[in-house]
Amino acid sequence: MKRIVWFRRDLRVEDNPLLALGGEVFPVFIFDTQILDALPQDDRRVSFIFDRVLKLKKALQTKGLELKIFCGDPLEIFSVLEAEGFDEVAASGDYDAYARERDLRISHILHFRYLHDTYIFKPEEVLKDDGTPYLVFTPFYNKAKAQLTKEHMQEFTFVDQKLYQTSYEGITKLNGEEETVLPLTISSVGFRENMPRTDEVESKLEQLKKHLPVYAKERDYLDKEATSQLSIDLRFGTISVRALLRFLVEQKKSGVDTEPFFRQLVFRDFYAYLLFHFPDLATHNHKYRFNGIEDQEKYAAFCEARTGVPVVDAGVRELLQTGGMHNRVRMICASFFTKDLLLPWQWGEAFFAKYLLDYDAASNILSWQWSAGTGIDPQPYFRIFNPYLQSKKFDKEAGYIKKWVPELASVEPKKLHDESYLLHHTIEGYPKPMVVHKEASQNALAYFKQRL
Ligand SMILES: Cc1cc2nc3c(=O)[nH]c(=O)nc-3n(C[C@H](O)[C@H](O)[C@H](O)COP(=O)(O)OP(=O)(O)OC[C@H]3O[C@@H](n4cnc5c(N)ncnc54)[C@H](O)[C@@H]3O)c2cc1C
Repeated sequence: MKRIVWFRRDLRVEDNPLLALGGEVFPVFIFDTQILDALPQDDRRVSFIFDRVLKLKKALQTKGLELKIFCGDPLEIFSVLEAEGFDEVAASGDYDAYARERDLRISHILHFRYLHDTYIFKPEEVLKDDGTPYLVFTPFYNKAKAQLTKEHMQEFTFVDQKLYQTSYEGITKLNGEEETVLPLTISSVGFRENMPRTDEVESKLEQLKKHLPVYAKERDYLDKEATSQLSIDLRFGTISVRALLRFLVEQKKSGVDTEPFFRQLVFRDFYAYLLFHFPDLATHNHKYRFNGIEDQEKYAAFCEARTGVPVVDAGVRELLQTGGMHNRVRMICASFFTKDLLLPWQWGEAFFAKYLLDYDAASNILSWQWSAGTGIDPQPYFRIFNPYLQSKKFDKEAGYIKKWVPELASVEPKKLHDESYLLHHTIEGYPKPMVVHKEASQNALAYFKQRL
């Protein structure tokens, strides 16, 4: 068997089912121009991927293998490779609409072997008794938990493989029939280095060990740093989700309640499962005709972090400056966006997609639909976060707000959680709130009720 082994969302050697197949292998990574062409040259994610691809190449070398790095349209690349007599291409599943369409088209060129890797459960694994997908998280979670076996945590061990002999130098760019080999630098794929600050997986796991016992209590607090920061690693597969489950089992043995963290991982699975079964969710509401009101001025104020609502502006600044945003702040921002500002959730989703380091179509789309009240098992449309009460509770001393909005550094924390103060006082260099929360909520509720 002569096989192309295509790394995508699994940039690691350890516990990778792709490397447990044997035979003659041609390991490849493709900088997909269909995706890259839409991104700015300093996109942080491309720097992260580039860095991890180089690490993968080195790790494969220690195992006697190599990685061929391409840049181009995968369809064209596989059309060229097909002529070299490969039996198949193996890759792990990727469920967003573009990936599914691309893989389907490649499967017409070469036999495509899908391996399950990215999520805990396969999309058809956790179904209702009548064989249909769950539409509500809690029963999905209960069934998933009941179905979880050792197999879901299986470690894939590396097996001996014969390396397909070809040149593995540089980055091979295919443009039609033309092939050029460029130096192994990020500029060869058309980008500038802009590496985000993110630790290696090992040190994140060390931190997580300390935080797991208080994860449930502290995860929502903006000054606690109690969450794992592993979303980018799960996104690009620099950690295997099975390895994370094994880590949780170990922690559980030492008496830690790991369930709250496990539940979040299952949330991630649930969202991918929903997008897999209901691909229309990517663009369409599952329920209600809440399409929002297109208002470019409001949208610009949100995206430029000048809403005058401190926690919202802090979140957007964190996103723009680092590519990260705490989960609680994502929820506050998405609620403010879709309810106080009544903007279309798709606009907010696209804005987050542009900047989030951990951007994952399923988690982002479904979370935005959750916030907008339009998704499958969403937050009820009439529940509208009060951003001031949220920041008062989760950022009492306003450390998070002040970190990202230094114009507010000298304002007493309690005033930053007090809408009336912010509406009636001028703070130099910082705008007044663009909406009055109570009025905006009533307006949103009236809009929603008309469209139920
Ligand atoms: C509007 C909005 C947009 C979001 N967009 C994304 C996105 O594009 N990519 C993404 O990975 N997550 C997204 N999330 C979910 C969540 O905010 C992040 O997964 C989390 O903040 C990552 O931080 P962490 O790794 O420290 O999480 P931890 O709290 O340590 O959680 C562990 C892991 O569980 C998963 N997880 C945790 N919370 C959620 C959740 N609510 N939904 C789904 N999975 C979860 C993540 O993979 C995370 O790494 C979004 C949430 C909201 C409200």
